[in-house]
Amino acid sequence: MNERILVVEDEPTIATGLRDDLEIEGFAVEVAEDGTAALSRILEGKFDLILLDLMLPGMDGFTVCREARLKGDRTPIIMLTAKGQEVDKVVGLELGADDYVTKPFSRRELLARIKAVLRRVQDGPEPCGIHRFGDVTVDIGRCEVSRWGEKIALTAMEFKLLRVFLEHRGRVLTIDDLLGEVWGRDAVLTDRVVYTHVNNLRNKLEENPQKPRFLIGIRGIGYRFDG
Ligand code: CA
Repeated sequence: MNERILVVEDEPTIATGLRDDLEIEGFAVEVAEDGTAALSRILEGKFDLILLDLMLPGMDGFTVCREARLKGDRTPIIMLTAKGQEVDKVVGLELGADDYVTKPFSRRELLARIKAVLRRVQDGPEPCGIHRFGDVTVDIGRCEVSRWGEKIALTAMEFKLLRVFLEHRGRVLTIDDLLGEVWGRDAVLTDRVVYTHVNNLRNKLEENPQKPRFLIGIRGIGYRFDG
């Protein structure tokens, strides 16, 4: 089946150009012309990827991205930024975008990015693999964590939380995401349980827990694992 791409772009010539280019490559394409329409399509539709322009009438691309992630949607997003929006790229990635392409971009560059993001998603995480970050090695199959060969003792919940982070490297996970993934949607718990467990992981895994390198807090949203 053709992979479906939602193009969110308010300039008709760019939107049409993108649609044509992507359809030639075999993608099924839908266009949304403003942020509000885009968000509702993202939340109801089943797209494989979203190309999201930042400057949109009404709700801008940042807000669309943040709202989609806050509502639990994890469809890969590539942001379309204008030249000189360096800060915007960083903010975009922190809000949960997967990649960005700077305008004006070539068709070849855009297709390469799209394919790379789709491949990353389809490959998915290694379920029983060995993961490494910094000096830390995590053996998922054996439930073992070590640094320089020395075992680090984690509680079952700490291990489960770490595993969720490893499965979503580089992605912002909201507190709700983490509560749902680790403790289950039905558990009656406060956000505090997540903060406590993340702090425990930082104390055990980070060289300097006060200035974490891997378990990065995203203010007001959640955490991102940069391993
Ligand atoms: Ca625009």
